[in-house]
Amino acid sequence: MNCLVCKTGKMFESSEVYFAKLKSSYVIIENVPCRKCAQCGEILFSASVIGKIETLLEMYKKVASKIFIVDYKQAA
Ligand SMILES: [Zn+2]
Repeated sequence: MNCLVCKTGKMFESSEVYFAKLKSSYVIIENVPCRKCAQCGEILFSASVIGKIETLLEMYKKVASKIFIVDYKQAA
């Protein structure tokens, strides 16, 4: 598939660090599977991955720590 942003770049399987800022904490999720544009670097997460991340964020919201660093492969 071609990139939705630059229209010409090819998307390839990759993994990225996902960063989220919650109300009272920061969450860093490593090794999140995604597609990345070879040309412009645009990153695309699949709907199932986003759903999983949202579930994780809901969970982390309830914990009092300031910063979380987790590995997607272990958390998912
Ligand atoms: Zn692109």
